[in-house]
Parts: sequence; structure tokens; C-alpha cells
Amino acid sequence: MNIPFLSFKQMNADVKAELLPSFETFIDKGWYVLGEQVKKFEQEYAAWNTTSHCAGVANGLDALIIALKSLGIGEGDEVIVPSNTYIASWLAVSYVGATPVPVEPRISTYNINPQLIEAAITSKTKAIMPVHLYGQCCEMDAIMQLADKYNLYVVEDNAQSQGAMYNGKLAGSFGHINGTSFYPGKNLGAYGDAGAITTNNQELFNQACTIRNYGSSKKYYNEIKGINSRLDELQAGFLSIKLNHLHNWNAQRVHVAELYHQLLSGTGDLILTELATGATSVFHLYVVRTQRRDALQQWLTEKGIGTLIHYPLPPHLQQAYKDLNYTTGDFPIAEEIANTCLSLPVYPGLSDDEINYISQTIKAFYHA
Ligand SMILES: *Cc1c(COP(=O)(O)O)cnc(C)c1O
Repeated sequence: MNIPFLSFKQMNADVKAELLPSFETFIDKGWYVLGEQVKKFEQEYAAWNTTSHCAGVANGLDALIIALKSLGIGEGDEVIVPSNTYIASWLAVSYVGATPVPVEPRISTYNINPQLIEAAITSKTKAIMPVHLYGQCCEMDAIMQLADKYNLYVVEDNAQSQGAMYNGKLAGSFGHINGTSFYPGKNLGAYGDAGAITTNNQELFNQACTIRNYGSSKKYYNEIKGINSRLDELQAGFLSIKLNHLHNWNAQRVHVAELYHQLLSGTGDLILTELATGATSVFHLYVVRTQRRDALQQWLTEKGIGTLIHYPLPPHLQQAYKDLNYTTGDFPIAEEIANTCLSLPVYPGLSDDEINYISQTIKAFYHA
């Protein structure tokens, strides 16, 4: 059997009949960025995410940068970020001129440990950026309480968890202003780059819309030094169509995860992801951990099963962040995850037979 790490086959089959005619409509319309389709998708996504506003932007990194800029965060400020995340979360903080201050995750959920945040707060701290990693919503009640106590902003990085919840509330609807990504491989993916900002605050929404469009709310009059981070009509139209399938696709990911969990529990030294009490996951990734990660990955590759490592090197050890002078051992939990994690295939259309084959192949590795 040949099982790729990610396949768009099923998702494309679900929407292709709707996508192709929409492509023709957009071409004929003659309006290609920030138009009616973008507005329509923004309203639909805001409703889907239970926020009052959504602003479409060019990608997920820009969404986070614009969110931080909208809050006035910049030079001299500190933003608390997880030590275990994709580098985009840190880069957004760096790009506005602020300093990312890492806090370790829980080793069970891989998400930022709220109990460790307080110790990282200083007089310079302006915001906390929880990242709902691998599809699981962070423990947002504790995080929002801390933010309240210290008068900090919360900016959720919701690139991986559209649809995940904490105590019945959706990721991307907790923070003052939040970013998400519609990179093709995300749970809701465009056919190219795209992203969005969600917020319940009208002023922050206006500010974000101004920043994404050259700092201009009135054409050719620039109030601030903004950037060009606009969303295409074409992508917005595609996203509108795909959004109608997102609950179904997320449910299929959850099914895959539940079957893996059932089949892989108690296998060798394999550690499966745990959900925090009150948290749900939309399983953007299905991450297992083992001390024999590299050997297991090679074994699966030889048997035709695609896997990836998310992520092999934590941000604090990346060359890009050598200016922060961190060294190996500074964030041991993030480092342990990086050294032991392996992401198994999870996507809509992955069949029970394939999940069984992957699980049997993993069991065979431990018996070999
Ligand atoms: C994908 C991702 C981003 C960035 O999104 P892009 O659209 O690729 O810019 C940010 N944070 C996390 C956690 C991500 O996974």
C-alpha cells in the first residue's frame, strides 16, 4: 500500500463541481482583490468562527503581524509565545519589533502550559499568543484569566485549529484579535496562500483592514504605514465553497484520530496525544512520540507510508533566532518533543483500511 502523508483527493472531489463554475464567474467579473467575494467570505467565516468580524489577508503570518500591529505592539514590547510551535508565531512578534518570550508546553497536550505563563510576565509584556497546535485548542480559560489579571492582550494563533473548542467555545474567538491561515495544507485550505484575522472588536477590525491595504481606508489617503496583504477574490470564492464542508472534514479527521488511538494504544514506547480537560481537537496533525522516532519513520517510509516531523528544531534553536542567545537545554520540553515526535497521515478520505495498515505496520516495527 502507498499512503501519502497528505492527500487533497477526497476534499477536491467534494468541491470540484462547485469550484470550476465559480472560477469562470470570477474571471468574467473583472474585480480580483478585496471585492464582494472577499466580503462575503469574511462574513461567512466570522459567523462560522462566532466572532463579529473577520478580515481576509494574504496568509497566516501576515494575519498575526497585522493583529499585533493593530494592537500597537512593537519595539520594546514582549509577547509570550509557546516554545513548541511553528516558527511563524515567533516571526510575527519579531516582525513588529517586539521580543518573543517562550513558555514551555505541557508534555501531554503539546500546547502552552498556562501554569508557567505567570513567571514569564514582566513589565514589558503586552500580549500572550497561545498557539492551538496540531489541532487542539489551548486551555483558554486559564490564559484569559491571566491576561485579565495582568491587563494583557491575547492574540490566538489559530492556523491549525479551525473548529477546535475549549469548554464549548471556538478557537479563534477568545482573543482580542486573532490570526488564522488558509495555507493549502491547513484544515480549511485555499488553492494558494490566504489567511484571516478574527475579532469581536470593531476598532481593531477597522485598524486591521487599514493596515492590510497600505494603511489606507480611503483610496490614496494613507493614515499609517501599512502593508499590502490583501485576499484575492478567487481564493475567497473557493474558501466560501470549502467552508461549507469544514465541519464534515474535521469530523473525518477526528474519526481517523479515534481509530489510531484505539489501534495504537499500548504499542511499544509509543506516546499518543492527550486532550486537556475541556479541550477538543480537529487533528490538523496526528502526532505520536517515541524514543525510536527516526527508525520508525524510516520503517514506515520503506512500507510506503508518508510521515513528517512537526517540528524537527524548535524556534529557540533556529539560526534565525541566534540573537536571543538561547542554547540546547533552555526549553527541554520543546526539545524533547522535537526529538521524539512523528506525524502520521490524517486527512479526509484516509480510509479505515489505510489506518489499519498504518497501525499494523507500526505494531510490526515494535515486534521486529
Ligand atoms: C501555517 C502556520 C502559520 C502561518 O500560516 P501561513 O499561511 O503559512 O503564513 C502560523 N502559525 C502556525 C502555527 C501555522 O501552522
